[in-house]
Amino acid sequence: MHRVMLPDGETVPALGQGTWKMADVRGRRREEIAALREGIALGMTLIDTAEMYGEGLAEELVGEAVEGLRDEVFIVSKAYPQNASRERLHAACERSLRRLGTERIDLYLLHWRGGVPLAETVEAFEGLRADGKIRHWGVSNFDTQDMEELFAAGGERCATNQILYNFGRRGAEFELLPWLAKHKMPAMAYSPVEQGRLPATGVLAEIAKAHGASLAQIALAFLLRRKDLIVIPKAGSIEHVRENHRALEITLSAEELSGIDRTYPPPRRKAPLEML
Ligand code: NAP
Repeated sequence: MHRVMLPDGETVPALGQGTWKMADVRGRRREEIAALREGIALGMTLIDTAEMYGEGLAEELVGEAVEGLRDEVFIVSKAYPQNASRERLHAACERSLRRLGTERIDLYLLHWRGGVPLAETVEAFEGLRADGKIRHWGVSNFDTQDMEELFAAGGERCATNQILYNFGRRGAEFELLPWLAKHKMPAMAYSPVEQGRLPATGVLAEIAKAHGASLAQIALAFLLRRKDLIVIPKAGSIEHVRENHRALEITLSAEELSGIDRTYPPPRRKAPLEML
């Protein structure tokens, strides 16, 4: 699997694993842990979670899934905006560390922008980094203007911006993705298979048929062709994890990409960043 470079030169696998809604249904827990472990075995070692997911239950599930494998994985977690202050971020991070059963979070993100001044959040992130509690920090759901303000607030060490981006939600291509590229900062694409709501007919289905592939694999291949993007599908079964991993083998032709552009046109003007 190709790797994607963070601004400080460290690399992470291009295809990782999401965990939103994991641990929601008790009966699926064992399968979800097995799915994450299968993904790790396949090299999808970047795992994305958040204190918000199940109010800590997803982080606990991740902790269980990576037991004995901690040094192989790159854990991403996120703090609520209301916890992004000098006083609260440290405690939120400690709670996440405890649930994850680890001594360090590899990449700690601000889940979305809230009322805490960015300079204060940057200072709090840098404090956690200095203490060895986190290795990198970043943001999520930040539009171009937010990124500009973050940098103006001393946030040039931001490692990534995790955003909603997939074949049908391409607004970021107009301004935000070029901005991040200019700053050598990879984006992390969430909801890459549109939360499983993929159109059974139309251009994706035609391309999938031609490749003997699934709709999800084509949606992932569309994103994985970019070398500056980390892609984090959530899959709650071993079958889905294996299927998603095989998307790495698919190369879409120029003709197929034009077909996608015709149905899902790239943006021609700036629109506000969408979020889920
Ligand atoms: P997603 O990854 O696009 O879709 C997940 C859904 O697609 C699940 O229902 C899953 O079902 C299904 N799926 C996965 N692989 C499949 C396959 N091969 N074939 C058919 N269905 C498949 O959506 P997401 O969970 O919203 O986004 C991914 C991750 O990004 C999240 O889990 C979370 O970690 C992160 N995220 C971040 C934010 C943010 O604000 N920063 C927002 C949303 C998401 P099964 O579970 O049954 O496999």
